[in-house]
Formats: sequence, C-alpha cells, structure tokens
Amino acid sequence: MQISFHGAARTVTGSKHLITTNTTRFLFDCGLFQGLGKSTKELNSRFGFDPRTIDFVLLSHAHIDHTGLLPKLVKEGFSGPIYATRPTIELSEILLMDSAEIQRIEATSNGKSNGAESQPLYTAEDVIECMKRFKPVDYNESFQPSSDIEATYFNAGHLIGSAAIQCRVQLNGSTKTVLYSGDIGRARHPFLPPAERFPPAEILIMESTYGDKHHEITSSHIDELLKWIKKTCLQKKGKLIIPAFSVGRTQEILFALNQLELEKRLPELQFFVDSPLSLKATENIKQHLNELNSKSQDLMKIDSDPFQFAGLKYVETTEDSKTLVNYSEPCVIISASGTADAGRVQHHIGSCLQGNNNTILFVGYCGLESLGGQLLDGAKQIELFRDSHEVCAEIAKISGFSAHGDTDDLANCLKEQEVEIVEKLFLVHGEYKVQQAFATRLERKGFRDIIIPSQHERYGLASV
Ligand SMILES: [Zn+2]
Repeated sequence: MQISFHGAARTVTGSKHLITTNTTRFLFDCGLFQGLGKSTKELNSRFGFDPRTIDFVLLSHAHIDHTGLLPKLVKEGFSGPIYATRPTIELSEILLMDSAEIQRIEATSNGKSNGAESQPLYTAEDVIECMKRFKPVDYNESFQPSSDIEATYFNAGHLIGSAAIQCRVQLNGSTKTVLYSGDIGRARHPFLPPAERFPPAEILIMESTYGDKHHEITSSHIDELLKWIKKTCLQKKGKLIIPAFSVGRTQEILFALNQLELEKRLPELQFFVDSPLSLKATENIKQHLNELNSKSQDLMKIDSDPFQFAGLKYVETTEDSKTLVNYSEPCVIISASGTADAGRVQHHIGSCLQGNNNTILFVGYCGLESLGGQLLDGAKQIELFRDSHEVCAEIAKISGFSAHGDTDDLANCLKEQEVEIVEKLFLVHGEYKVQQAFATRLERKGFRDIIIPSQHERYGLASV
C-alpha cells in the first residue's frame, strides 16, 4: 500500500491524498489550491496522477479547498463514485457552481485585459456532470466502496456534514486502518457539536492548521466584533466590511450577531450579507438544524431562526450589490471571499480603503500572498482591479471565529489512539512551521514516525 500527497502538503489548500493498494486507488478529497500567488494556477493545472486510474473519492466536507477540483477530475476521465454526507453533497453543488462562475468571470476579464487565451478549469456543465457521481453516506455507518476497503465517516464538527474518514484496508490476509481527519472543528463551536474522537488507526493523516495555537475563549470574539461595530459605525460613522467565506464563517458571524441581538446589545444598524452563495448556504444549514449542537437546540426553543435578526438583509442581484458599494450610511457588510482574493467583497474593499472612518475586519485565515494577507501585513498600497489603492481604512482581525480546532482540539481527537500501534502519522493542511511545532507536541505524547510530506511525495505504508 502507498500514499501520495498532491495538495495541502506544507500548505492549507488543495487537499488531495491518494491511497494505492494492490487492487484499488482512491482519493481523500480533491481540493482547489487558493491564494498561493502565481503558483496557484500551475498547482491547479495538473494533478500529479491520472484521474482515469482513480476508483472512487472519499470526500470529507464541502469547502472548496477540499472539493474544488472534483469537476476537473471528472472532466479528465474519473468515472467512479464520490462518497459524502448529504449536507456535504448539497453544499458542494452550491460551492462548485460558484467556483465555476468565478472562473468564468476571471477568464473573461483576463481575455479582455491582455488578449491572452484564458480557460477556466471547468464550467457549470462540468459541475453538473460531476454532481452525478456523488453518493450519500451516513455518519457511523460502514460501507464498502471496493472489495478490499471498508469506510466509515465520523462527525468532524467543522462544517455541516463534515467528516473524518476511517478506512479498513484488507490486503494479504491482514487489515490496516487508515484514518483521515479532514478538517477538525473546535470543541466549543457556537452551533456545531465537537468532533468525535477518532477510533484507533495504524496510519493517520491529520490536519494541522492551528497545530501551534490556542484559540481565544468563545465569548471574547463576540465582544470584539461588537467593539468594531460600535467603533466603526457609531463613533466614526463609517462602514465595517467583513470579508467572510460564504459557507461556514458567514453563518458563524450571523449566529454571533443574533446572539448579540438576543442579549439586547446589538446596535440598530443595517447589516448586509452581500453574497448569493451565503444566502444559499444559510438556507442549506437551516435544512439541517437537527445537526446543530445541544446548546443551539435549546436556543431554538426561544428563537426558531438563530441566523436571522433585525436589520439583516441579503443582497442578491449584481445591481443591488453595486448600489451597496455606493451606499454611504454607516453599516456592516459581510461579503465573500474571506481572504478578499475574489468575489463582491473586493468592490466593497476598493470603495472603502480610502476612508479612514471605515474598517476592513478579517475573521479568518488569510495566506500571506492573498489580498487579505497583504492588508493584514500592513501594506500601505495594494493592487486591486489592476489599479493601485492607498490603504487609509483601519485593518483589523478577530481570530476567535475559526472553524478549525486549535492545538488542544486536534490533540483531543487523537486521545483514542494507541501510540504503540500508530505506524505513521502524516501532518497535512498546515503551514510548515506550524506543522513542525505540532509534530514536536505529538512526539512528546509518544507518537513516532511523524511525517510532514511535501507536494507529490509518496510513501510506502507498512508491509501490506
Ligand atoms: Zn474546511
């Protein structure tokens, strides 16, 4: 048996891990690389394996850095099933359609600006073909995607439908258990239950995004959000722009604002969600309220919709979005993408950067190369829509909104592991420095053979 890593190797996007047994080849996830500057395009252009040789895909969750190259995989000859939970399938369709649209717009604008041929990685038609390959699975119910493999999904508490995946591989009369963490949620997520502890495995593939960090306690980031709303909109009469991913982070912000309203602390203001994708994703989560944690179930006895509050409006059409860009009253605008690398939020940032009464408030991880990363790094001048913009607005960040577990949450998920039977522990989905720090922590807990693979690196697994 072999494993090779074709994404999220010493970085946090592009998750693609390929397992090869004597008879089967399958992928854990097939994600898009994002925010890696000039190398992003090259990384997304070739898989490092032949899609026609893959038998099936086990998908951990719907985020585009885990799903975003599935349509390209199908387009290039993959014809097997893609297994995922029902909420993941629904969210994947929404996100992949959006990804195809973003690529179409980018290809058109590249073509106009430099006349160069620019092809999207895939189109909406490719997404429709890709969605035909999805097959639903339930948590904690084993199934056999091939004769030598039994797979089980466990709730990972990171996003509605997110999963860690266990595979029991039969080969030469023995069994090896491989466990892929996907992305792991935080123990105190505002509305999702904590990740289940993973059953013992010989081979672990573990995310490590925040392997060296402790998150702030949950309530302080809500106070921090309120502080920025008051400072920007009430004191400085400016606009507060919150770049946020449409699926997951936007709903966390809405949940927090709803909580402030229930506590009668939310100022009377206009709150806009300017992202059609966010509206679809929020509606999707509302279809799966039974998957929320017990605290949220109790909350819903007094507030049937924990994502809706007074003053909240969704902006759907492009025309309405353009009108909002020119809106000059104090307000809060939540818009995608979270790293400000794409989407409508770029227009809001472009129009607000010059005003020192405005604030751009980041609420999630931004790679150094992304527009968000540059702003957070203190750039005084940035490039946007091929124009140079001076940065006068305040740039701020709240880190407590992470949907990724911190170092304690990650370590907790490994509590059931017996260090003497773990043969290899691969750290993926993290920056290299963070991964090194997390590896040191895990070594102290007794784990041996901790590996931080690099792109396209391949490893033999045990003797099977
Ligand atoms: Zn994720």
